[in-house]
Amino acid sequence: MQLPHWINGQAEHAERRIDVSNPATGEVFAGVASGDGATVDRAVAAASDAFPQWSALPNTERARWLEKLATALEERLEEFAAAECRDGGKPIRLAREIEVPRAVSNLRFFAHAATQFASESHHGQAGLNYTLRAPLGVVAAISPWNLPLYLLTWKIAPALAAGNTVVAKPSEVTPLSATMLGELAAEIGFPAGVLNIVHGSGSEAGEPLVVHPQVKAVTFTGSTAVGRRIAGLTGPVLRRTSLELGGKNPTLVFADSDWREHLDVLVRSAFQNSGQICLCGSRMLVERRIYPEFRDALVERASALRVGDPRLEDTDLGPLVSQAHFDKVLAAIGRARDEGANVLCGGAALDRPGWFIAPTVIEGLGPDCTTNREEIFGPVVTLQAFDDDTHALALANAGDYGLSACVWTRDLNRAHRLAAQLRAGMVWINTWMQRDLRTPFGGSGASGLGREGGMEAMRFFTDVRNVGIHLE
Ligand code: NAD
Repeated sequence: MQLPHWINGQAEHAERRIDVSNPATGEVFAGVASGDGATVDRAVAAASDAFPQWSALPNTERARWLEKLATALEERLEEFAAAECRDGGKPIRLAREIEVPRAVSNLRFFAHAATQFASESHHGQAGLNYTLRAPLGVVAAISPWNLPLYLLTWKIAPALAAGNTVVAKPSEVTPLSATMLGELAAEIGFPAGVLNIVHGSGSEAGEPLVVHPQVKAVTFTGSTAVGRRIAGLTGPVLRRTSLELGGKNPTLVFADSDWREHLDVLVRSAFQNSGQICLCGSRMLVERRIYPEFRDALVERASALRVGDPRLEDTDLGPLVSQAHFDKVLAAIGRARDEGANVLCGGAALDRPGWFIAPTVIEGLGPDCTTNREEIFGPVVTLQAFDDDTHALALANAGDYGLSACVWTRDLNRAHRLAAQLRAGMVWINTWMQRDLRTPFGGSGASGLGREGGMEAMRFFTDVRNVGIHLE
């Protein structure tokens, strides 16, 4: 199978390709076009040419196009779910029930946002001031492999809704669904050049894209290391940049919580998609009074997760996405052992082809260990006991990341107090990853810069101008 770029509404095959593997078997099943600076130039030129007409469309027309794409995607839900399963190793149930439907919702949500987006006006002693918001032009969207279609649509939908044209560079590890989306857009007659998909590696295709002089903004989701690199490139040219980066999220479990009843959510919050979700809680902080019983219950549930063929309906966890990532996660488990960890379950690869690692629960490490500070992004969770709220907060806020946190307690005062004190862009109380698309999404510290989601995204993708009028 050969996966082309989609530029100006046309498939563009390439001589140079990058192997695409099935993580459940380790076999290469496709080659994806490997773009470079010249490919990026063609895509940006197509997007620039398409911009005047696209941005001049009435909002309702842009909304109609996004709605049409959403409907077409919904009709092909099964094919897209199978694609996410094939190159990402995503359990088919997760792809079908959550991720592809969420991609459809992203497109629909921002179709509505296109028609609901409003600007402010201020009337007072300084006369009448009103704010204009105009689309920026060509924007670059760079996305990772862990939620390929979900995060791609999370970026392109608001960018397009606000009137920009897009050059997207999906992850070279999971290029299947993005290629299919490019094809689908062409099939439904999406205006050529408005949405372009350029494949390739970060260094050969991603970097020329973020520094391209005609690109007006960069939205990036991926690792903190690459986010820093991109900031280093876009900073000097003063290019608007949104960075959604890694996390090392704490889950605080208090003795007064209904943790037994919600153990399934707690387990999902640690292990969903084999821990390859930026919002997974990889550090579980548990009140000392309930620590032994919580630990035993968690270990029992984690050990019972069905790890295996992602195509099977009853699979809970699939493989890790690539050999490189598999090696990295195993190395992190090895390092945890070197740091003195007690591995309570898992801790090893499954004895089968593909890149499977058993759900792993670790205890015995403090907040300063590398294991508790660096993102592992695999099915690995650590446990630490705390004595009181102050101790819990200190453990939760230890480290450089600040993406999300969960607090499990029945004490509302404590919940609100901690929500205000935790260093995190998003805090969930007695739940996990319950997302309202209108809310701001993003993190602080090493987890990123800026916020996306809802009107935050519409604001990011528009240029603001204030007009002040003197009133007699
Ligand atoms: P990555 O940083 O390796 O790659 C992300 C994307 O950036 C890919 O498309 C890649 O090709 C591209 N890229 C790599 N180097 C580049 C460069 N120098 N210039 C331009 N583009 C470049 O990340 P990944 O391994 O694909 O994804 C996993 C990471 O993403 C984890 O750290 C995870 O926490 C993070 N993530 C964050 C969020 C969030 O919303 N905060 C969501 C999902 C994933």
